[in-house]
Amino acid sequence: MNLDLKKTYAYPDKRGRFGQYGGQYVAETLMPALRQLEEAYQKAKKDSSFQKEFQYFALNYIGRPTPLYFAERLSKKWGLKIYLKREDLCHTGAHKVNNTLGQILLARRMGKKRIIAETGAGQHGVATATMCARFGLECHVYMGEEDIYRQAPNVFRMKLLGAQVVPVTSGSATLKDAMNEALRDWITNIENTYYCIGTVAGPHPYPGMVRDFQSIIGKEAKNQILKQEGRLPHGVMACVGGGSNAMGLFYPFIKEKSVRIIGVEAGGEGLKSGKHAAALVAGRVGVLHGQKSYLLQDQEGQITPTHSISAGLDYPGVGPELAYLKDLKRADFVAVTDSEAMQGFDDLAKLEGILPALESSHALGAFKKIKKSFKKNSIIILNLSGRGDKDLNTVAKVKKVSL
Ligand SMILES: *Cc1c(COP(=O)(O)O)cnc(C)c1O
Repeated sequence: MNLDLKKTYAYPDKRGRFGQYGGQYVAETLMPALRQLEEAYQKAKKDSSFQKEFQYFALNYIGRPTPLYFAERLSKKWGLKIYLKREDLCHTGAHKVNNTLGQILLARRMGKKRIIAETGAGQHGVATATMCARFGLECHVYMGEEDIYRQAPNVFRMKLLGAQVVPVTSGSATLKDAMNEALRDWITNIENTYYCIGTVAGPHPYPGMVRDFQSIIGKEAKNQILKQEGRLPHGVMACVGGGSNAMGLFYPFIKEKSVRIIGVEAGGEGLKSGKHAAALVAGRVGVLHGQKSYLLQDQEGQITPTHSISAGLDYPGVGPELAYLKDLKRADFVAVTDSEAMQGFDDLAKLEGILPALESSHALGAFKKIKKSFKKNSIIILNLSGRGDKDLNTVAKVKKVSL
């Protein structure tokens, strides 16, 4: 492991970088908005009234702290001691709302009345629309036309919450195109608009800021495991799309060298098929959406189409901090295929009575691959990032059942 980690893991650095990753690769017109955001965030972070407000809504609105649940029957199956961090029990059904709470409170402080966001599967769109409704802010969610069609129930949810869903038809009409459009909107409407990004990606200060808001997951989990087991876990694991639920759990454990960190990416139909979304396992370094990180790209540097059974993992890039942790060898990454994820889904349903999100099912599907590298009964914390209700249509299709 690199010496950098020993005592002083303090990233992003002053230039907004995690090693060579991150940064601000944006049009000059966007720089003032990023500077304003960074200043406002640094001020809020040190302000105890902001922290108190965050804590209040985390407790009373989101339903935190979420339980750290010992999954006894799943543990027996794998010969490990598996604890689930139950982010599926958050209001709106996933971890995304931890971040939108933080950012919408920040937008309010900054006096921004118009909120924009991008969404793929619709989970971040719903979480943003939810917080905007709660605080009476105007909400526009950019969404690829293809995703609008695939994720109709979440589109309806956003509309019920009072948000406007803006269809994006450019490119592949999916998440990466929605993010491009949202960045364009921001440049045009910088005065009154706040851009709420849904994961630990995008230009600085987003990756570090979103991680800070999500790290409530890891802080709680660390206290909970110390209480329940009297020691730190042997490993922590989470699925990786952009990387926000993973960084949220991992961050407070980075300096604990005895704790192994494992990220699980979407292997789709297998790495050899080319139909996957495993940017860290199979990608190369490049620039997308204002940041430098690992990306899925062709020889000319064009972003290649991605595939995953889980819409929330279907993104060609990944947050810069995870790229850095990979290079430092502080974290290991594996890819889990669609069918391995389905097995993880079925296991949790049948053994523990919990229907997990298909994203989280990827982490659950990784035990077969990773268990050899742990001693019997090692303690593992797995981030159950969301619940599976939103995925029932997809699961029915895979199982060839009509609803
Ligand atoms: C969006 C989403 C993910 C993937 O996003 P990250 O930023 O990688 O966490 C994972 N799980 C669920 C339930 C999601 O909604």
